[in-house]
Amino acid sequence: MKEDCIFCKIANGEIPSATLYEDHDFRVILDLGPATRGHALILPKEHYADLCELEDSTAEKVLPLARKMGKAMIKALGCPGFNLVQNNGEEAGQTVRHFHVHIIPRYQGGSKIVAWEPGRLDEADKEKIVEAVRAEL
Ligand code: 5GP
Ligand code: ZN
Repeated sequence: MKEDCIFCKIANGEIPSATLYEDHDFRVILDLGPATRGHALILPKEHYADLCELEDSTAEKVLPLARKMGKAMIKALGCPGFNLVQNNGEEAGQTVRHFHVHIIPRYQGGSKIVAWEPGRLDEADKEKIVEAVRAEL
């Protein structure tokens, strides 16, 4: 646990939260500023700032848990679908530096939440991007 981390305190039960699910590794809570009804956050109990820091043994449990929660939300809340959102770094919109995954139920007629204006892949830049990223793998 990291001393000054609010999500460490919530995940480990030091600060009470609306908990939808809890196991040895995770707590799933309702977001205090929900994008839609039922918006939840998956929090690991161990502190990892973001996905880059997350250990593989924890990471491999995240997607099955997100699926479990999403399927329960579809049944319980009547949302036909849901988004998973996971921000890494301030520029990406991460405001709390403790890894978390948003599960956002989506309802018929709901407003856009996860959307962008599609650009166009630049032909000249394409090869450079591929080369640069592949070199770092
Ligand atoms: P981020 O922008 O870092 O991906 O998302 C942080 C999320 O945490 C936001 O959606 C925000 O509403 C939520 N949040 C921040 N502080 C608290 C808190 O103390 N309790 C709960 N339940 N949610 C929080
Ligand atoms: Zn933390």
